[in-house]
Amino acid sequence: MAHVLITGGAGFVGSHLAEALLAQGDFVTVIDDLSTGNIANLDGCREHPRFRYHIASIMDYPLMAELVDRADTVYHLAAAVGVRLIVEKPVHTIETNIRGTEIVLQLAARKGRKVLVTSTSEIYGKNTKVPFAEDDDLVLGSTSRPRWSYACSKAIDEFLALAYHREQGLPVVIARLFNTVGPRQTGQYGMVIPRFVQQALAGDPITVYGDGTQTRCFADVSDVVTALIGLMREPRAEGEVFNVGNDQEISIADLARLVRDTAGSHSEIALVPFEKAYNKDFEDLARRVPDLRKVRRFIGYKPQVDTEGIVRRVIEYFRARV
Ligand code: UDP
Repeated sequence: MAHVLITGGAGFVGSHLAEALLAQGDFVTVIDDLSTGNIANLDGCREHPRFRYHIASIMDYPLMAELVDRADTVYHLAAAVGVRLIVEKPVHTIETNIRGTEIVLQLAARKGRKVLVTSTSEIYGKNTKVPFAEDDDLVLGSTSRPRWSYACSKAIDEFLALAYHREQGLPVVIARLFNTVGPRQTGQYGMVIPRFVQQALAGDPITVYGDGTQTRCFADVSDVVTALIGLMREPRAEGEVFNVGNDQEISIADLARLVRDTAGSHSEIALVPFEKAYNKDFEDLARRVPDLRKVRRFIGYKPQVDTEGIVRRVIEYFRARV
């Protein structure tokens, strides 16, 4: 039984992680400022005797010092996420992602606590390699395009985490999450599957940006949580970076059809030019596939839920809510 601190624990991934850790017998404390998290995400945890939560920012240094002190391990998930939010609130994204992680790592190093830092597949940027392996180059765009501030801020987080590991022996693991989906993810910040599902259920046009030939690989949140817990428990993973996701690839146009058909919807599929969807400075990525060999080698990870299963689960989730 361990005392676990989850930053960003009221978020979509964090709340699923909290539930999984409670189910395994851990004591779980969550800190979340509810900027993109939602207190309702913790409905399954709040009454649990081994659960505590703090609605506060990870920038609250004295509080964080106390929480890190009381924890055995820290899962650092708090971050400004979602492409839309990043484009709309670049100052908030950059500051939260850099300063917040700095605080977590500094405190963890001081107290000798193990940390898992969640990073992102965004970090590979415009690299056209398929699939992306952990030591591939980061190919980022110009600083005049806000999208890249997110990847850049997460790259700094990774550099800092690895530096703490090398210089001060901080036990740290980095997980680069690829597109993660599941119940409780909202479409509010632009994520495609919850958006398509809500559009399909409402009978509204399903908005495919660009020509829909761009592809993504979607992972179910339950698979991602399994990987995060597995990586945290594996001593050989310390000081290492891992891709975490699913390598089943689908084009966004096929995804739109899959969502529409699975939901039994008659929504039309509408192509929306990128300039209309975001703004003229936006750059979308053609393909993004994770190389999962490393995470498989270290913890035997294999995703269990396929794209069809993910879409079904998200449809069930939104149906139950209306
Ligand atoms: N997308 C889309 N329609 C939407 C929202 C997103 O076609 O309503 C596309 C988006 O342009 C991208 C893909 O779906 O090509 C995945 O977008 P998301 O924001 O979910 O993730 P990311 O771009 O970070 O991979």
